[in-house]
Amino acid sequence: MSSENKDLSKAPTWDLESVYPGGSGSKELAIFLENIKKDLKSYTNKINKLPQKLNDSNRAKWADYLIKLQEFLGRLSQVASFVHCLVSQNVNDEKAHQIYGEVDVYRSEFQKLIVLLEAFAKKQSNKEWDKLGVSNKIGDSAFFLAELRDIAKLKMAPEFEAFATELAVNGYHSWNRLYDKMYGDLRGDFTENGETKQLSLGQLANKMNSPDRNIRKQAFEKIESAWESRSNMASMALNFQAGYRLTLYEKRNWDSPLFEPLLNSRIKEETLNAMWNAVEKGAPKLNQYIDAKKKILGLDKFKWYDQSAPVGKSNQTFSFYAAGDFIIENLRTFSPELADFSRMAIDKRWIEAEDRPGKAGGGYCTTFEVKKESRIFMTWGGGFSDLGTLAHELGHGYHHHVLKDMPMFAAIYPMTLAETASIFNELLVTDAALSKTSSDDEQLMLLDQKLQNAHGLLCNIYARFLFDKAFYIERKKGLVSRTRLDELMIESQKRAFAGTIDPTEGYHKLFWASKLHFYMTDTPFYNFPYTFGYLFASGVYNRAQMEGPSFAKNYRALLADTGKMTSEEVAKKHLGVDLTKPEFWSSAVERVLNDIEPFVKLAGK
Ligand SMILES: [Zn+2]
Repeated sequence: MSSENKDLSKAPTWDLESVYPGGSGSKELAIFLENIKKDLKSYTNKINKLPQKLNDSNRAKWADYLIKLQEFLGRLSQVASFVHCLVSQNVNDEKAHQIYGEVDVYRSEFQKLIVLLEAFAKKQSNKEWDKLGVSNKIGDSAFFLAELRDIAKLKMAPEFEAFATELAVNGYHSWNRLYDKMYGDLRGDFTENGETKQLSLGQLANKMNSPDRNIRKQAFEKIESAWESRSNMASMALNFQAGYRLTLYEKRNWDSPLFEPLLNSRIKEETLNAMWNAVEKGAPKLNQYIDAKKKILGLDKFKWYDQSAPVGKSNQTFSFYAAGDFIIENLRTFSPELADFSRMAIDKRWIEAEDRPGKAGGGYCTTFEVKKESRIFMTWGGGFSDLGTLAHELGHGYHHHVLKDMPMFAAIYPMTLAETASIFNELLVTDAALSKTSSDDEQLMLLDQKLQNAHGLLCNIYARFLFDKAFYIERKKGLVSRTRLDELMIESQKRAFAGTIDPTEGYHKLFWASKLHFYMTDTPFYNFPYTFGYLFASGVYNRAQMEGPSFAKNYRALLADTGKMTSEEVAKKHLGVDLTKPEFWSSAVERVLNDIEPFVKLAGK
């Protein structure tokens, strides 16, 4: 691509014009939305008019309906992605916010349509439903359809489910909203350079990355004292939403609170246990990393607020395009297709990376299903972490690229597999950066970034899981007091951190209050899929390292199947491993811990 009229020192803005020209005021967008509204109504009417008992003579009619429904879902998903892009590129785009609200209504209407489909599925015989699933027109969606029916059979009668969903809006989910409001309103007085300012919890959390220990300590104490003042209310929110969930589970005859999260993750409990066993066995080795880090930082005790303390440093900065070139060059050593995709994403301006006021924070990759394209959102700062983010998001983009011709029901993958391509890219590019630098400080910094990540995913996330699990056991018997929540949290941290955090004063007692993940009603047990995704991607990367570029074809095929089978089946088919057994997990954990040795060596210099 010609770069003559492009300033290569600046990070790019993205191209949204080729999707719907004119941003939130776009005429094309308005027409598209109008059609969605109209079609949603007609699909809802149609489902009740179709024959209610499947047989040879009407199977084709249903298959056609399901094809159209998936095509519709693609359009709905595209418009939701597009409006999300508008809102994040300019948080003050009022019109975009308004459209966002409208799209939300359509999404919940579509959910009701899926409930009708579940009700229909439930009434069909196994034989007929299976025949529909494998009929050649919708064969790729067979897994999704079978799963939809299996889950429907595990639920209450459709009218009760619909009623519960409606009640949840002002009941269950409101506890989450109430918590979020509390979180947003909380402030702490923070003193730095003789000046005292009121900081939000997010700002205080950022201060925990400071190289100055007093700053980190002060930020941590302010967060704890802010939550101390709201702990009784947080405890109520946590207890009541868990109570709601448990009542629902009881009516559905689901006896374990893990049942739903395992269904959502498309994994078996044996798999989860095998993973945590490997984690628990490997975690004590992290003490060598923490001891070395203590030595560098001059600490005698490693506390909660020392986890994100930076070590090592780098004076290197990258322009967006130089980073892009570096990423592509290294991806090419594994897969030319993956490299070409990334080149195209950059050249076609699929990436919004400009640093300017008015943009939302964070980074993500989103997809336009009809256009069969994706877009990446981030803010370019020029450091190594931005290089990692860009590589990560390009991985998500590639995953979508591989799935772009699948029908929608076959392109929906669980959270457990969602991070495979992104973490894979991140590992590959970080390792390339590590091997190319000769500066000790830079190596130390990169290794520390990787190990901080490992420490978080193996210990911190495990602590959250242990807490959630223990909390639900006690909640089944009644309300769990605030003091008891503290105790459960400390016990979980003690076990999960395996001695890496000082047992006398290092823990974060009120973590159950301060971590918003515990309050997310849409995703119960919002913890283990992170560790799963991280270790699964590490295992896949491990394989790519051993087999080299010849593995690229399997890698692509693995990604292409992520919406078509369980996580165990994906692993069996493409890696030849059994996720319910310890071997895969132990070797993934071992690989992650391989960075400890060079880190300790560098720290000793
Ligand atoms: Zn990601």
